[in-house]
Amino acid sequence: MPELPEIEALRRALEEPVRAAPVARAGPAHVATLKTFDPPLRALEGRRLAGARRRGKHLMFPTDDGELVLHVHLMSAGRLKLLGPGEKRPKAPAFQLTFENGDALVLTEGGPKKRAKVGLFRPEAIEDELAHLGPEALGLGAGRLAEILRAEARRLHPLLRDQRALAGIGRAWSNEILLRAKLSPYALSTELSDEEVARLAAAIDETLADALALREARAPDRKAYRIHDRLGAPCPTCRTPIERIDFEEHTIFYCPACQTGGRVLKDRRLSRLLR
Ligand SMILES: [Zn+2]
Repeated sequence: MPELPEIEALRRALEEPVRAAPVARAGPAHVATLKTFDPPLRALEGRRLAGARRRGKHLMFPTDDGELVLHVHLMSAGRLKLLGPGEKRPKAPAFQLTFENGDALVLTEGGPKKRAKVGLFRPEAIEDELAHLGPEALGLGAGRLAEILRAEARRLHPLLRDQRALAGIGRAWSNEILLRAKLSPYALSTELSDEEVARLAAAIDETLADALALREARAPDRKAYRIHDRLGAPCPTCRTPIERIDFEEHTIFYCPACQTGGRVLKDRRLSRLLR
């Protein structure tokens, strides 16, 4: 599940190769993946991309003439790769962009659900498309975070994952951030002290910066995550076994000793409340 660190590492890796040669062929694209029809994908052909940009968990590839922007959102299961001329192509990519030098930018998606999105926009239209996003999570700072936390009483874990509040954090890194901040996933945003807000702001920056360095070094999940997806493993700080609470579409992992004053929170009614 790619979040800000994974998407930023990918952006940095794609920045040079996507602008090395003009687009030779745009497509094919799976009907469920391509979300726009005007301008048509073929409008990209013959144009050169200016590089790769990121906003939250979204990737954008503007053309160097400033007229078009290719937008890619991987959602939870999409994978985007640059394949060289000799490398084997997947049989049914969700989307593919082939360059005149033979490289190809290929989007695949595991599982039956097609959730990853590709769209071709004019520059004004992509701004509207992403206008709902909150400020970038990395480099947010305690002052701005305090405004977001105090705007409305919300539980910390769902608030951190809300792209409208702040952009870039998902299920995995919110677990890691809250462990580092030593805050309960269920704490109410309006009830944090100034010191806790500062701790959370620092934890967001430190966690995401460390995560980006790990992902740039191609660290796999088992090395990148200290608590996410590690039920029963010892907390890296205090060795208490990590607990979890399950929801339909995600799981919260936490350390009862470091984060919830020793309380193990598994109540299903609470799960529904927090969704
Ligand atoms: Zn702990």
